[in-house]
Amino acid sequence: MSKVSGCLEGVSFLGPKSENANWLRSEFDRVLDQWFDWRRALFSEDPSPIPESIRLTPDFLAGQDMLSQKVRELSDMMTGEVPKYTPRYIGHMVSELSVPALLGHFVTLLHNPNNTSRDVARVSGRVEDEAISMLAAMIGFDPARAQGHFTSGGTIANFESVWRARYRMDHSLALGLCIAEKTGEPFDPVSFAHLGWEAHTALAATHNITDAELREASGVLGNPFRIAARITRASGREWNGPVLLVPGNKHFSWQKAANVFGLGEEAFWTIGLDRNGRLSLASLREAIERAFAAGRPVLAVVTVAGTTEAGEIDPVDGVCDVLDAWRDAGRDIWHHVDAAWGGFLCSMLGGDAGRVLSEHAGRALKAIRRANSVTLDPHKLGYVPYACGAFLVRDQASYANSTFAAPYIDRSAPNDRWMMTLEGSRSGSGAAAVWLTGKTLTFGPQGFGDIMAGTLDSRAYFEQALVSGCRLVRILEPADSNILCFSLAKQGEGLAASNARTRRVFEAFVGDPEFSVSRTELSVANYGALIDSHLDRYGGQADCQSLVLIRCVFMNPFWRNPQVRSALMPRFLDRLETHMN
Ligand SMILES: *Cc1c(COP(=O)(O)O)cnc(C)c1O
Repeated sequence: MSKVSGCLEGVSFLGPKSENANWLRSEFDRVLDQWFDWRRALFSEDPSPIPESIRLTPDFLAGQDMLSQKVRELSDMMTGEVPKYTPRYIGHMVSELSVPALLGHFVTLLHNPNNTSRDVARVSGRVEDEAISMLAAMIGFDPARAQGHFTSGGTIANFESVWRARYRMDHSLALGLCIAEKTGEPFDPVSFAHLGWEAHTALAATHNITDAELREASGVLGNPFRIAARITRASGREWNGPVLLVPGNKHFSWQKAANVFGLGEEAFWTIGLDRNGRLSLASLREAIERAFAAGRPVLAVVTVAGTTEAGEIDPVDGVCDVLDAWRDAGRDIWHHVDAAWGGFLCSMLGGDAGRVLSEHAGRALKAIRRANSVTLDPHKLGYVPYACGAFLVRDQASYANSTFAAPYIDRSAPNDRWMMTLEGSRSGSGAAAVWLTGKTLTFGPQGFGDIMAGTLDSRAYFEQALVSGCRLVRILEPADSNILCFSLAKQGEGLAASNARTRRVFEAFVGDPEFSVSRTELSVANYGALIDSHLDRYGGQADCQSLVLIRCVFMNPFWRNPQVRSALMPRFLDRLETHMN
């Protein structure tokens, strides 16, 4: 697509005033026409069960009338929905849908494929493979080795990673237990838990361990209490199971995952955050050492690329270095990057668009390719309709989950997905929406990456205008992506007072139809260092246990437009001023 400034957004979105309505209508028409023709052409000799003689009866027409009326009723109702398409909406992680995503979704919806099986998704399954390859390339995975699938969202994609990390760990623990019980050698569960697939396969062959034996020693397939007792006996140390290391800036889906996969709360270890609100490498190192010293393996280390609260990007590169050192020492630890928000920012890498990224953010995003698995959320920064998340692994081996027969999945075989996904039936619409986006915009720095760069630039513009327009605005820094958080505080003021003011202003925005913002509250327990550095900037006093922030998510592509900026920015400042008084 053309590189004329503003053209990329202009052609990729309907526009807040439905500017592209005629073009989009004709596209919808063409799609519908083809759908109708497809039905007419196929089995054209078959009789019509709805002949004209029926279609003209009063009962039939009355039925149609009633339906039309109800459709209008529903679409009237929907005009009361939150208007998320307008640049005035900077509330949550949702905005305008892109035209390619909407069309890809719509075209596929009409055919209603179920990607759970090739039996009912002859074409759509292939589209999914191709779309996964596009996303893999975007984050720097080798598409020939990567594997993955679309999920209903980031939550399930995160679950998919725990499912696979647990499978790998359980499989290797079972191997170690078999070997120890066979040979009578002492068993070190921590070393075995971190074998990794390659060492696992080699060792299983050396000791001639069969799948049946592994199955019998699995804490997932067998009775977990009995297996735990066997591990305790063979290792001579009480077996307390693995821990999951997740930074304090996590999304709440991680607690859900720990809960669903039967990890107790005590096994859910929080990695501390630094003064930037990002995962602290020192805290990570300490947690790993503490776990190993306690005889507990690390089920996975999670890092967040683009936190839900403030868009911070953890030092993924630093985490990879820490884990590489452990791998060199024989302990292969699963690394999952939760890039539900920030994953699409990778489209900026390697081109001009990347200039808006800080050095830290660029390095971190570039390191995502070193992780075992990644969560993406096309229904957030991908501008794709709900429900569409994606789960990817770097190597096919890491995709293995439920079968003890073959940890290496044969990509050439017509492997149906139902075995490989937590979900059963899965719509093909999300995959097609991503596919069409990739085919048209491309997920590179000159296409999608340019739109992403616009969102970061808009955030920077907004920050500058906000700071110069309102004395009490205290920006939460640093900003790693396109989310802007601020509190409203007087010089030297205590948190309790500024929290009350920020909360009051937020509530006033809720009652004000002009703009939508959101609110977040960071706890001192998790974000103590970040809150300290925030307070340091204006001499604020830490007299309570949380920091209340107004949160603005810059996702709408039209904030980069100069006319939009000069019309909306003064308006926002005016509303802010009003709400403060
Ligand atoms: C949104 C989000 C999730 C959860 O994704 P859903 O699509 O809402 O299930 C997980 N992690 C992060 C970092 C997120 O921002």
